[in-house]
Amino acid sequence: MELKLLSRAQLVEGSRADVAAARERARLRRLRRLLALLAVVAAWLWWRTITQAPVLPRWVHFGWLGTFGPALLIVVLLGLVLAVPLVGTGRSPHVLYRPGDTGVTLDDVKGSPVLVEEVVKTLNLFLAYRSFREQMGGTPRRAVLFEGPPGTGKTHMAKAMAGEAGVPFLFVSSSAFQSMYYGQTNRRIRAFFRALRRAARAEGGAIGFIEEIDAIGSTRAGMGGRGEGISGVVNELLIQLQSFDSPTAGVRLAGAAIEALNRWLPPGLQLRRRHSSPANVLVIGATNRAADLDPALLRPGRFDRSIYFDLPSRAGRREIIDYYLDRKSHDPGLDDPVRRDALADLTFGYSPVMIEHLLDEALVWALRRGGDQMTWEDLNRAKMTEEIGLPQPVEYTPAERRAIATHEAGHAAVAWLVGKGRRLEVLSIVKRGPALGLLAHTETEERFTRTHSELRALIQIAMGGMAAEEELLGDTTSGVGGDLASATKMAAQMVGSFGMAGSLVSFDAVSLGREANLVAKVLGSDDGRAAVESILEEAKGDARRMVAEHLHIVQALRDALISNDELVGSQITDAIEGAVTAGVVGMP
Ligand code: ADP
Repeated sequence: MELKLLSRAQLVEGSRADVAAARERARLRRLRRLLALLAVVAAWLWWRTITQAPVLPRWVHFGWLGTFGPALLIVVLLGLVLAVPLVGTGRSPHVLYRPGDTGVTLDDVKGSPVLVEEVVKTLNLFLAYRSFREQMGGTPRRAVLFEGPPGTGKTHMAKAMAGEAGVPFLFVSSSAFQSMYYGQTNRRIRAFFRALRRAARAEGGAIGFIEEIDAIGSTRAGMGGRGEGISGVVNELLIQLQSFDSPTAGVRLAGAAIEALNRWLPPGLQLRRRHSSPANVLVIGATNRAADLDPALLRPGRFDRSIYFDLPSRAGRREIIDYYLDRKSHDPGLDDPVRRDALADLTFGYSPVMIEHLLDEALVWALRRGGDQMTWEDLNRAKMTEEIGLPQPVEYTPAERRAIATHEAGHAAVAWLVGKGRRLEVLSIVKRGPALGLLAHTETEERFTRTHSELRALIQIAMGGMAAEEELLGDTTSGVGGDLASATKMAAQMVGSFGMAGSLVSFDAVSLGREANLVAKVLGSDDGRAAVESILEEAKGDARRMVAEHLHIVQALRDALISNDELVGSQITDAIEGAVTAGVVGMP
């Protein structure tokens, strides 16, 4: 088993050798014990044979079993029925993966090289624990916290670490520790850590993974909020995290025997007590709510190292897309790097598991239309299904259909006019979930900040639907509700968070309890409300002017929507450019 990890991280020579040597020692110890047992049995058999005695001693006979056997059996069975459930509740609830079972290595962790690098460092310390402790005098890292939104690959990474390290991996979900019996949660935690220590001593190392650790490690749990008394489960966790150096039961027993013997022996002949080496355990706790964890858990020597799992960047998404697409049946057109880059753009904000799921959903769409490979269109449909929901076959009245198409065309026209850096993806009047129609538009480049003018443009786009309704229908509909809500939210952020509306006072700094969000705080102040109102009014005026000046674009989009229901990508820009070049002015 040589040494890819070491070359990756240029770490101490022979790090894996520590684990391998410990495993070899454990194997030899097991063999020695077995040999000793066999030797005793063989000696017994040999002795009985040469003395020509029967193999079993005379006092072993089963005569009485025939008489009392059935009654005894019933008593034993009854005892078992009562005892077994209780024994079960105190058992460790983990699932054990042996090396190779997980089928995942660090090569399967895509899209986050920095994380892999960080994890490799931890892994090398874990694998080289003996050299680190004995030669360098360091204290090995015992516990690491994986923190980040769901689906960002925390469990996946832990499994890969176990796969790479070649040690047992004990997976447990925090909820499995919880029990209705008083004290059982603590008992299960103890049992889990006992299993970890045992596995580590037998195999040279073990990795324990506790999913959603906040469920047992949050501050509330420590105060007995989960009904486990004052000592609490957090205390148990803290104690267990320090337990890897404690001697095994066998060593303790042998120590007691030697101590008793030493009392009789003169000083020169005193026997030396055996010491067990610490169990090489790495505990990984995963959570998406690290802030809720009890601070005592985060002190040095406990979960003192925290690794943050973020959503993947564009390059990361591209890598994940390549990884999964190569495993799923797809149209050769999707092998084009340009298409794959476009897919990476479209999946901005997606976690790795969402990307995997999107590709599966595209395969389902392929099946639905009778194909056996996903195409670009299947991917687009899958994306809409994932983000907005399945299309619902409802019949709009002709007037309603026209109104919805006008509304969406208004959004699209303003988006095209103001959002030079925006890509128009989907324009639709098919009902999905609560949305009667939609315009999906994204940035052309991945960005993490927005300028003042970009935010204003987004509010103008939101107002485009209402402006088109007023301009072309002479009336407005209830369909503007969602747009006004999102525009108000953005305007409130500009006023209360980003200092973009005349005042630099941050409403974010005001704490009014957990419930009060930014919009409530801003709208709760007269000045804030007036500033929001003015931003919205101004954006609405701008949108109205744009729609009025480019009525032919709005009409062309509306007509295309009425006849096609849904326009995707270039179909939208084709309709707009067609209207621009022809200078067509359709029927209002
Ligand atoms: P978390 O524990 O953070 O909620 P998981 O580790 O359970 O997320 O991730 C769910 C699935 O997503 C994994 O089983 C794996 O298939 C996929 N996945 C997550 N991260 C990655 C990654 N970096 N590369 C490839 N697949 C990933």
